[in-house]
Amino acid sequence: MTSVVSEPSPFRPRHLSPSSASTFRQCPRRWKLKYIEKLPDPKGEAAVLGTFVHQILEDLLSLESDKRSIDAAKNIARELWDQIPDDEDFRVLSLSDTDAKGFMWKAWRLIEQYFAIEDPTQVDVVRAEQRLAAEIGGVPFFGIVDLTEQVSDGVRVVDYKTGKAPNSRFVEDKLSQVWLYAAALAEEDVEVSEVRLMYLTSGTIDRPIDSKAVNQAVNSHRQTWDHLCEAIDTQKFPHKTGPLCNWCPYLEHCPEGALEAERRYGPRN
Ligand code: SF4
Repeated sequence: MTSVVSEPSPFRPRHLSPSSASTFRQCPRRWKLKYIEKLPDPKGEAAVLGTFVHQILEDLLSLESDKRSIDAAKNIARELWDQIPDDEDFRVLSLSDTDAKGFMWKAWRLIEQYFAIEDPTQVDVVRAEQRLAAEIGGVPFFGIVDLTEQVSDGVRVVDYKTGKAPNSRFVEDKLSQVWLYAAALAEEDVEVSEVRLMYLTSGTIDRPIDSKAVNQAVNSHRQTWDHLCEAIDTQKFPHKTGPLCNWCPYLEHCPEGALEAERRYGPRN
């Protein structure tokens, strides 16, 4: 009797990033609409602002350490601002002149808050915006690390956040991203000694390296990968309604999500 070897579906992604895993855990149907059907998922203003601020910080930290002044950050911000009309994500926001100015001021306030949190001249940069592709826990992982820096007892992984800091109940969940980066960096023989989430609105969340937390993050990523592969192979992507449906870009493709949003927030205009 010939045994049947099941071939992996050609739709399996080449890798799983923390944000893709998070989308799948939030709602498998949303993941399918975004990653398989490739329906547009325009970035909102907060995400475009985050990208803009990240770029300013990346350019600032790529300067020689003694040149990383607030004036240097201003010049970088001005140059990037001049280019922003060409940015597709920014154009889609269709901001009025007043709102565009407000956007710029919000970005600049975040940069000022960054300077209040740390002195960039003291940051010993190892790599900024490092693209990481590695197999961790049997999963093809991909992620972009905002910053690795040399600290007294090793290397610190930093992820900048432009949104609000999480409620204390969700902090460990938010840290899973930097634990995954630590696991991926270990595959490149970089031993991480600590991780940091830097919320520009409020300060940092720091942890020393914790192998148990790293293993938990890797196992959870593995579980998400297994569930994702199963969903792809069986073509079953159940909807998972919840409070975030109201902000889902696929509401018009998802009757259950539309009902949920209406139940929670009333009819949409
Ligand atoms: S509207 Fe809600 S249930 Fe529907 S795809 Fe979006 S997140 Fe999932």
